[in-house]
Amino acid sequence: MSYQDDSDEFDFESDVESSEDTPTVNCANCKQLIYEDAQQCPYCLEYTSIESPDHLSSSTKTVIWLLILSLVLPTLVFAASVLLKK
Ligand SMILES: [Zn+2]
Repeated sequence: MSYQDDSDEFDFESDVESSEDTPTVNCANCKQLIYEDAQQCPYCLEYTSIESPDHLSSSTKTVIWLLILSLVLPTLVFAASVLLKK
């Protein structure tokens, strides 16, 4: 009996702690309150698209690589043409 009481109390405490620690946001699709960490909304199953600076999406990475290439490639071509003329 006492063991059951202990487990109930522990469950209650952990539940309160997790709900307080985890930031929540409104789903962009169904406006339900969901965990910010959740990658998918549990209500409408829509994938969340929260942009955070430390988590770049693949499309952002592609744009960055294209920018780097557009800057580096002409420099390399110019350097190669100068070397070839010598
Ligand atoms: Zn939703």
